[in-house]
This record gives sequence, structure tokens and C-alpha cells, in this order.
Amino acid sequence: MVTPRGKGLGGSTLLNYMLYVRGNRLDYDGWAKQGATGWSWKDVYPYFLKSEGNTDPKIVEDGYHNASGPLTIQSAQWTTPLMDAWVKAAAERGYEYRDINGEKQTGFHTLQGFTRNGRRCSTSKAFLIPASDRKNLDIVTDALVTKILIDKYKNAYGVKFHKDGKDHEVYANKEVIVSGGSINSPQLLMLSGIGPGKHLEEKGIPVIEDLPVGDNYQDHVGTFFLNFEATGSKDTFQQLFSKPISNLVKYNTEGTGPYASLNGVEGLAWVNSKYNDPSLDWPDLEIHLEAYSLSSDGGVVSSHLLGVPPKVMEQVYFPKLGKHTFTMFSCFLRPFSRGTVRLDTSNPNDHPLIDPNTFADARDIDRLQAVLQENVDIVTKTKAFKDIGAKLFDTKFPGCEQFVANSTYYSPEYLRCIAVGYTFNLYHPVGTCKMGSADDKTTVVDPQLKVKGIKNLRVADGSIIPNQVSGNTEAPIVMIGEKCADMIKADNPDRNNC
Ligand SMILES: Cc1cc2nc3c(=O)[nH]c(=O)nc-3n(C[C@H](O)[C@H](O)[C@H](O)COP(=O)(O)OP(=O)(O)OC[C@H]3O[C@@H](n4cnc5c(N)ncnc54)[C@H](O)[C@@H]3O)c2cc1C
Repeated sequence: MVTPRGKGLGGSTLLNYMLYVRGNRLDYDGWAKQGATGWSWKDVYPYFLKSEGNTDPKIVEDGYHNASGPLTIQSAQWTTPLMDAWVKAAAERGYEYRDINGEKQTGFHTLQGFTRNGRRCSTSKAFLIPASDRKNLDIVTDALVTKILIDKYKNAYGVKFHKDGKDHEVYANKEVIVSGGSINSPQLLMLSGIGPGKHLEEKGIPVIEDLPVGDNYQDHVGTFFLNFEATGSKDTFQQLFSKPISNLVKYNTEGTGPYASLNGVEGLAWVNSKYNDPSLDWPDLEIHLEAYSLSSDGGVVSSHLLGVPPKVMEQVYFPKLGKHTFTMFSCFLRPFSRGTVRLDTSNPNDHPLIDPNTFADARDIDRLQAVLQENVDIVTKTKAFKDIGAKLFDTKFPGCEQFVANSTYYSPEYLRCIAVGYTFNLYHPVGTCKMGSADDKTTVVDPQLKVKGIKNLRVADGSIIPNQVSGNTEAPIVMIGEKCADMIKADNPDRNNC
């Protein structure tokens, strides 16, 4: 599995799928119960609202949104006929078609994304660029922070960074905030002497504070490889290339058309596996409906991006060239398995080692199999999908040929084989600088996001999330940034005199 990260201003929001999802209120109540005091749903909800600039009056009307925040959110500007089937299928599967960022989360979703005029609204566009003229803000690009500077009294007083072939140091009057994301924040902390003592010693790094940095790695794990075809659907790639000039003009002038699609995602759903209690409104499965598959671009781009072996393309996808195909990219939302991030070397230019430890807990496989079964049921058991001529791929995945699978039926064994053999992460790593009670030996930062045992050092990004959220991670991480900003202000009442 690959773990891409965005490297420019705005980080991974520069290249993500832009889907706007807050997670479930019980996720945050769970954080608070486990020691992250001040992070229950009632505490974090105002910060979701603070940044949100929702442009859809129908959504805003439901009373759970804000229209005036800096991070612009739009309802999908373009969808294919697949979406009509999706809306109808919701009722047939016993779910509401609803705003899942509103009163309840369970249901099929009105898709919203971080876009402005049909174009990506990254966190840089929303927050950083508008503030870039401020006298108290310096933005340095093309720079790699290599170390947090910490004195013998364990005060963080600045950072060392590499730029234009030279090392530089910059000092902080107040404190240092690390926001390198779930892979690079733990890397930087460990390079600076904060991390598992034994591991740092092995790498020749003097230990300043022995903390479980890099533990508790969690990602949403699913599969991109459950694909369907439908005569009554329209493949996104075919739409993109059918009238490229007029589509580009439409995108440039109106911010609509296939180029304004949210990376081909049409619909989302939050549903319950048989292992989950539906009365809680805390669904454990997420489905992304995408109006394309790996056959859509003839294996030219996406198969390389996803590292799909030629044999899989030849056996499964090339026979479907030219057909209208679609995908249900699904995952189990609250993984039991935990992985690690560790240093490979003490050189900041070397990539750290990521061990996602996927499926270490077999309950994760059961639940992934359950969501694949739900996908199959949506397509084979609803009139809505039958009406558009939807059916399962009759081509079988290498290694799974011995199990029953045809265009109308996939056996449970076939689905499990896909789950285990064709696994894919959703690029939502979190948890590697875990937040919680300072007394808890598994935590790295306290509920004020302060690194335990070090003065003047906080972490604010996805790495502090103690337990994975039940949805995509950008909105929760923006919320963490908003809440951190308020904590810093509260700690510095004299800040206007700085
Ligand atoms: C392909 C993809 C699709 C996704 N789709 C969605 C989606 O549709 N919806 C959603 O909600 N979420 C999505 N996500 C997840 C979401 O984008 C991330 O969870 C979120 O952006 C992570 O925020 P972060 O601040 O923790 O880290 P990042 O966004 O990764 O930001 C970290 C920043 O720190 C910088 N940095 C790190 N180390 C150093 C250093 N040593 N020196 C200097 N700078 C450093 C990095 O360059 C980067 O700019 C997706 C992610 C990916 C990769």
C-alpha cells in the first residue's frame, strides 16, 4: 500500500479527494471519555462551524452548518445518472438519503466537497493565503525542518531547517507548534530526541523524553477493487474525454462539468455491519460510489498510480474496456489494528518506516468483508440498480479464481479473498502522537496538545487523534487546528502586545 502526502502549502489538502465529512459525534465523546478532556462533541462542534463556509442553502437550512467561514464547501457540481440510482437505492436498502454532517450520520449522502467555484479549496487557499500579508507571519517554502531545538531544561525554543543547501535556525519567543502530519510529526519528534527511548538509542539519537511517539498508527483500510458495469451509467473518464474542449470551457467559466467532479466520487453512504448496533447512529462502514474503474482509462494512469500488476489489468480490467463501469470504494471505519511509524535512519532526508500492521486484528477483515457484501447487495438486490442494467464484473481476480463469482453472485469466500488480497488504504493515517490524559502511558500530548515532559511544544494535526474518526479526516483535522488556535490565544492574553 502507498501512503501519499501533500508537500506544498496546504499539505495533503492539495491532493485529496475534497470530500467534506465531520465524523460521528460518538467518536469525539469517546475521545473525551478516554481522557481527552474538552474534546467531546459539544466541545468540538463549534470549531467545525467556525471554519465552514457552506454555500448550499438547502444544507445550511437544516441548522447544523455555517455559511460564513473561510473554508468553502459546495455540493457536488456534477454527477452522472449513477447518482439517481444511488438516491433510490438508499430507501430500498432501508436507509435515509440525507445530510450526514447534520442531525444523524447513518444514511446515503448528499455529496459535499471543499471546493470554491468548482475548484479545490485547500486549507492554504482558505486560511494561509488570505493571511499572508500579516506582519507577524513569515511563510518559508521549500524548507525541511530537521530538528526541534530543546535546551537542557527541556524547553523547546525553536527549530532547525534546511533550505537552499544551508541549515538555518529560527527561534520562538513563546512556543513551537509542529503540524507535519501523522507520518512526519512523529518523525520530527523522534529526530529531536522525543520518542521510544530504546528505538532512539538504536538510531544513535540522545533521548530527551521517552514517549510512545509513532505508536497507535491507524488508517481506514478498504478496497478499490469491487467494480461493476451498467449500461445505463456514464463513466466519468468517458465524459471527460468525450468533449474535452467544451468541458474545459465549462469548468473555466462556470466551475461545473465533469472537470468539477469530486475526483469521480458521486455518492457516499454510512451503513451498519451486522456487528454494529444501528440504534446508536454510529455506522461502522463507509462506501464511496465512483463513476469509473481501473478499466476506464485503459490502464494508462490509474493502474500505475495504484501500483496494480499487469496480470490484474489483463485478467480483470482490460475485458471491460469501453464499458460504463463503476466502483464502490469502501472501508471499515473503526479499525482494531494498530501500526507504527519508526525512523529508518537518523537522517531527516530519509523516509521513516511505516508499518500499518493491517489486519493484525482479524475483526477488521470480517468488517471489510461485510461492507463488500453490502456493496454487492446494493447492486444485485435493488430495483434502482437493476433499472440501469448494473451487474457484477464476471472477470475474476488472480488468486481468487477458485471461489464462486459470476455476474449475479459473489460467494462470501470470494469477497473475503478480495478484502485480504486487494486491500487499499484511504490515505487517512492518524494517531501517532496520541492525545489524552497526561497520566496515560499511551499518550504523547495532553488535551492542550502539549508534548508531555517538554515545555513550549505542541502538536496540532492528524497525529493527535486518539481513535480514528468515522469518516474522512480533513474536516476533523481542520477542527483540531481551530481548537488549537483558541487554546494558544487563551494561554496568551497579552498576545496583542507581542
Ligand atoms: C490522496 C488523498 C485523498 C484524500 N481524500 C480525502 C477526502 O476526500 N476528504 C478528507 O476529509 N480527507 C481526505 N484525505 C485526508 C486528508 O487530506 C488528510 O487527513 C489531512 O490533510 C491531513 O492533515 P495534516 O495536517 O495532519 O497533514 P498534512 O495535510 O499531510 O500536512 C502536513 C504538512 O507538513 C509538511 N511537513 C511535514 N514534515 C515537514 C518538515 N519536516 N518540514 C517542513 N514541512 C513539513 C508537509 O509538507 C505538509 O505540508 C485524503 C488524503 C490523500 C493523501
